Amino acid sequence: MGQSMVAITQADCTGCDLCIPHCPFEALLPLTSNPEGRQHKKRPVVVLASQCVGCLSCIGSCPTKALHEIEMPPLALHSPLLVSGVDPDTESIPRWGRKGLGWA
Ligand code: SF4
Ligand code: SF4
Repeated sequence: MGQSMVAITQADCTGCDLCIPHCPFEALLPLTSNPEGRQHKKRPVVVLASQCVGCLSCIGSCPTKALHEIEMPPLALHSPLLVSGVDPDTESIPRWGRKGLGWA
């Protein structure tokens, strides 16, 4: 069995942010802007490949099933999400303090 990672189907992501507190590694964050031509009014959440360890804690948290598992071959050294090697611009989400999002 190979390693796993997750990806988000952007067309299915409404930007509800419900998945964000389910990631203990802060790998799920919203884009700073909505990509042109997107069908949803709110910007999507993306998986930061540099942060995601494939723990799959988030996988059942999406009401639209936009989050899905990606199988990796055994002994793969790089995430399949690392296409460009550069994470997209994302909003920061405060986790701590009275107004912090906390953890699910
Ligand atoms: S698989 Fe784990 S590390 Fe990756 S986005 Fe989901 S909860 Fe975060
Ligand atoms: S829970 Fe699903 S629809 Fe909501 S932001 Fe996360 S991936 Fe998008």
